Amino acid sequence: MTETFDYDLFVIGAGSGGVRASRIAASHGARVAVAEEFRVGGTCVIRGCVPKKLLVYASHFAHGLEDAAGFGWTIEGKQFDWAKLRDFVASDVDRLERAYTSTLDNNKVDHFHERASVAGPNLVRLASGREIRAKHILIAVGAWPVMPDFPGNEHAITSNEVFHLKAFPKRVVIQGAGYIAMEFAGIFNALGAQVTVVNRSNRILRGYDHDLTERLMAMTEKRGIEYRFDSPICGIEKLADGSLRVALDGHDPIEADVVLVATGRRPKTVGLGLEEAGVKLGANGEVIVDDYGQTSVPSIHAVGDVTDRVQLTPVAIREGHAFADTVFGGKPRTTAYDAIPSAVFSQPPLAAVGLTEMQARDTGAEIKVFTSDFRPMTNMFSTQVERGYYKLVVDAASDKVLGIHMISPEAPEILQAAAIAVKAGLTKADFDATMALHPSMAEELVLMR
Ligand code: NDP
Repeated sequence: MTETFDYDLFVIGAGSGGVRASRIAASHGARVAVAEEFRVGGTCVIRGCVPKKLLVYASHFAHGLEDAAGFGWTIEGKQFDWAKLRDFVASDVDRLERAYTSTLDNNKVDHFHERASVAGPNLVRLASGREIRAKHILIAVGAWPVMPDFPGNEHAITSNEVFHLKAFPKRVVIQGAGYIAMEFAGIFNALGAQVTVVNRSNRILRGYDHDLTERLMAMTEKRGIEYRFDSPICGIEKLADGSLRVALDGHDPIEADVVLVATGRRPKTVGLGLEEAGVKLGANGEVIVDDYGQTSVPSIHAVGDVTDRVQLTPVAIREGHAFADTVFGGKPRTTAYDAIPSAVFSQPPLAAVGLTEMQARDTGAEIKVFTSDFRPMTNMFSTQVERGYYKLVVDAASDKVLGIHMISPEAPEILQAAAIAVKAGLTKADFDATMALHPSMAEELVLMR
């Protein structure tokens, strides 16, 4: 007797990867349902990339209004209202959630607004107790901020809460010096808060090219951001006036109104029933998958941050799409992890694709490095004398561009196009043969000699 299923695919988690997989699987004719315990859209849309980028834009006005004087503008009475910004951002998140929900509806994907867990290779249990049989299950539950264990950590917030602050803080301590820390350090600093970044190591943005991160540090220090290195937070005490006293290992304590902890995100697999169903997890709780997203249980797949490969939205989307094409579209596809462009929306922003100079040297190949250190025209009349810096890492034997690393205004916008060249394996000679677009910052990419 053939087994009957309620759905061909049950997706747990309606974030970037889950929604894409649902939509594509449905377009291939699958009967699809998705469960989401919080809000449709997932981290990126609800409390990540999208609201963060809107805050970054808002904070750019602070620099822009200052620089405007150099271009002849007199602007009196400028004021910033955090509550207005926060509520505008929240309403845009609502709009996007509706758009994502419509995508599910338009593709006839059933959605359940409750927590779901795995009860067997083909069985999903909803929080309400209802059990659903599915031919395939996709785990797309994402990751969750890690909160280090120290006394008083209940007084700290994570990126989940930072978008909802009641009042704009005058003093902010940020633990961690990765993506989230450096992006929010820039936002709070530009909007007028005193910001201190505290990190356990003596670096910011591990993994990015050192020339870029050193320049970012110098520039952000000039803008007023302070750093305390080799110094984890060892406790937070709430004072009578509501302030937070942050105790550091090896440094004086700092008083703050908000302590934001941004020390990485861990796959959200606790209590999901995966191990009980036979799905193998890694040391960080991540779902272990093969190139096609298949877990140790053939009917269960996983995509996105829950697999802890590359925690980036476009990667989750590609993985979700490839999964749906493979399982329901008859077109087996994997996701390519080479030449993934990335950016940190710090101020100024940083963007990179391919190998850093150090990674390239570590391969043992002979490399050539080309750099451009320039003053962007947009900064000509700025009070901040900030220079841009681009680096090309080139394989000496083949002349192929192995990596591009940039810090400058608009670096992420420029890098997306430049990443095509790295992905396509173009050479330094191809860059040189390309006519410059003048005057622009991007032209530096084809003028490095
Ligand atoms: P990151 O991994 O970027 O940075 C973590 C930071 O916390 C590092 O400075 C690290 O120190 C420190 N750290 C790690 N573990 C501990 C610990 N146990 N105690 C104290 N400090 C610790 O994580 P984020 O939280 O900033 O971001 C999570 C992920 O979200 C990123 O990896 C990224 O993939 C994604 N993201 C992407 C964005 C983008 O594309 N623009 C924006 C925001 C998030 P060190 O490394 O120096 O040892």
